[in-house]
Amino acid sequence: MTRVYNFSAGPAVLPEPVLERAREDMLDWNGTGMSVMEMSHRGKAFVSIANQAEQDLRDLLQIPANYKVLFLQGGATGQFAAIPMNLLRGKTRVDYVNTGAWSKKAIAEAKKYADVNVVATAADSHFTTIPAFDGWQRGSDAAYLHYTPNETIGGVEFHWIPESGDVPLVADMSSNILSGPLDVSRFGLIYAGAQKNIGPAGLTLVIVRDDLLGGAMASTPSIFDYQVQAEAESMSNTPPTYAWYLAGLVFQWLKEIGGLKVMDEINRRKAEKLYKAIDNSAFYTNPVDVAARSRMNVPFTLADPELDGLFLKEAEQAGLTTLKGHRSVGGMRASIYNAMPEAGVDALVEFMVDFEQRKA
Ligand code: PMP
Repeated sequence: MTRVYNFSAGPAVLPEPVLERAREDMLDWNGTGMSVMEMSHRGKAFVSIANQAEQDLRDLLQIPANYKVLFLQGGATGQFAAIPMNLLRGKTRVDYVNTGAWSKKAIAEAKKYADVNVVATAADSHFTTIPAFDGWQRGSDAAYLHYTPNETIGGVEFHWIPESGDVPLVADMSSNILSGPLDVSRFGLIYAGAQKNIGPAGLTLVIVRDDLLGGAMASTPSIFDYQVQAEAESMSNTPPTYAWYLAGLVFQWLKEIGGLKVMDEINRRKAEKLYKAIDNSAFYTNPVDVAARSRMNVPFTLADPELDGLFLKEAEQAGLTTLKGHRSVGGMRASIYNAMPEAGVDALVEFMVDFEQRKA
């Protein structure tokens, strides 16, 4: 068996100990004589798995008691609609920050339900910066303020939390949740598709302050109604049981390595190494403002785009896969989520230096 270093933006690499544990558990979870996939979601065994996963996540992020944790389906994209449906609560206006491709999708979906005020956009810089907070044109009666802390495609990340005052702050943390410690109490709602830093695709995490529950518009599908799902402990219908279990294994792995402070330090080192390699070279370029560079998704271009194909081919041969940039921006993108070992980044940097020496 050869495992590659997989730089996919998502679904993405999972920690190897998690996959091994899942393999050990595959046919017989904890003496039950069945796989987690085969269990009733209402049975004692799965309920214990589900509760443990929630507790481990609460421990990792130190989630305050007045927040509900929901394990849902429909992806972050489902939440683009669920958020206005649940959080408008009689209001009509919402504030959104536009820092790139995922912000735009969230805005487009919210427009179906609400009057969207774009408080700031990074369009002028081609989405390579984060608009300074003091220039944000916030509405006076917004139901919430939404932003995208990490733009997975553009490789732009907030390294600060906007101060939203009494207005609930809503964050799409699909691609940077659990990458370091977080003060959850600053947020009204945090959501994330699982398939980057949490686990396999099919699971969507929502962390929501409980005063925001119970006001969903009447037409909200019940599976997207936070109050309904909170009361049903995320089991108003059959939840994605296996993805939930695997997420639980990832949370245990994070605890075992020492928690989010340790993860944060590893992520800082990995990102620094890669950006340093890019900045020290005239051959590779990352377009993002240094203060807004993502620690999770690192896009870069080659001085000669004609070499892109060869770069990808040789990288693949060296066991470095899925480095092709998003089709909308081209070039390369290395996603270096929590589960990407530091040795994977070292191998990529070594390959990049060697490729440049041979081809530039
Ligand atoms: N937001 C961000 C920041 C993302 O990276 C993605 C997926 N790449 C999405 C939303 C959409 O997530 P999903 O595919 O789970 O709907």
